[in-house]
Amino acid sequence: MKKKNVVILGSTGSVGSNAVKAVLEHRDLFNVIGLVARNNVDCLAAQARQLNCPTLITTAGDKRAELGALAPVGSKILSGPEAVRELVRREEVDSVLCAIIGTGGLLPVIDALLAGKTVALASKEVMVMAGDLVTAAAREGGGQLIPVDSEHSAIFQCLRGHPMNEVSKIILTSSGGAFRDYPAAEIAAATYEDALVHPTWEMGAKITIDSASMMNKALEIIEAGYLFGLPAEKIEVVIHREAIIHSLVEFIDGCVLAQMSEPDMGFPIRYALFYPERRANRMKPLNLAECGRLTFAAPDRKKFPSLDFAYQALREGGTLPAVMNAANEAAVEKFRAGKIAFPRIWAIISKVMALHRPEPQTDIATVLRADAWARAAAEEVADENTEY
Ligand code: MG
Repeated sequence: MKKKNVVILGSTGSVGSNAVKAVLEHRDLFNVIGLVARNNVDCLAAQARQLNCPTLITTAGDKRAELGALAPVGSKILSGPEAVRELVRREEVDSVLCAIIGTGGLLPVIDALLAGKTVALASKEVMVMAGDLVTAAAREGGGQLIPVDSEHSAIFQCLRGHPMNEVSKIILTSSGGAFRDYPAAEIAAATYEDALVHPTWEMGAKITIDSASMMNKALEIIEAGYLFGLPAEKIEVVIHREAIIHSLVEFIDGCVLAQMSEPDMGFPIRYALFYPERRANRMKPLNLAECGRLTFAAPDRKKFPSLDFAYQALREGGTLPAVMNAANEAAVEKFRAGKIAFPRIWAIISKVMALHRPEPQTDIATVLRADAWARAAAEEVADENTEY
């Protein structure tokens, strides 16, 4: 493998710092030429020192001076979203890992794909909000998308060497989240701390809340639809609490391929970084005898209406997936602040989606407008003194 020049967006988050760890194990294979983070400039500066990375960007403008004081002497310190867009387009960049939470990854990912770069995508919001635009950018610019989300990495791996017309459906696995065994009444009384306890995966706070509501799986249904060009009816979800099988592909002859590993994001991150090669690593290999039993169950669509939102959003397309995502983010924020009970997250999303008139994804501005509209609508719906 030729040494790759890599940029990491969101390097101080859960996926980003995991990627830094993987790169440090293979210093001979990667040059990290840019690191981007928001507030955690201490960590960013420390990563720059470890990786000998020349360019550092904080997307928070007011952190620039602080970062400058902490960063290794001679580092180039920049701030703001335009600097990120300029960085990913640079001639020498081969690969961009996008692990920014929320909407900040959207423009840099599109820029990188238009410039023909490989994009390892961990930020599912990017695909959910603008799947049509992102896939069009890849086609137009010749860039390639490699999923980092564990389910999508699993499907990507199972699909390798198979034409899409041989695929009958894909099956996303879900651990079920913190509330999988809660009766509905207990979900209604659940606190932020309850929702933050994930049974299997260690992840950031927002995604753990999304796992508890199963909105994470809803986002992943849409992400899969755009990534693999599949309609809603070819995407299924199965509850698999052990989180050993990360997803499956069923082919037209009835055969099913699954991808398995220990539940650790280190695996899909490494797969995406090394793609198209595989490399030996220091991760814990799977011991099936130790796993003992793997179980599967149908999701409870009544208790967890999230999957229905996703199927509707994927079917109608256009700006509806972006609206679903934004309404969820606004509702999760309300729940985090203690302003609403957990089930109102679903009620808010459902109401905001019903109020929206979807438009085609003609450009980024249209998508961002729908996103802003949905956040404002979610605020209004949340403030209404109703049963929603
Ligand atoms: Mg996932």
